[in-house]
Amino acid sequence: MARRNSYRFLGNKAKKEVHDLDNEKTGPNQCQIDEIIRAGNAVYFSPDTLAQAHSQGYDNCQWCLGGSQR
Ligand SMILES: [Zn+2]
Repeated sequence: MARRNSYRFLGNKAKKEVHDLDNEKTGPNQCQIDEIIRAGNAVYFSPDTLAQAHSQGYDNCQWCLGGSQR
């Protein structure tokens, strides 16, 4: 699957969840990346790492990352 951009991780600032775009799940009620972007809730991380997302308080998406910390 082609990436939307040069980032791997995308955060949903509305839900404080982080998604792995390399492992995006597109089923109903799964990652819903398009909806996140459309709603203006997409955020990216610098550096583009899961550790950075966690340090900003983001939790793993249960579909593409699993292992929710909540
Ligand atoms: Zn996800």
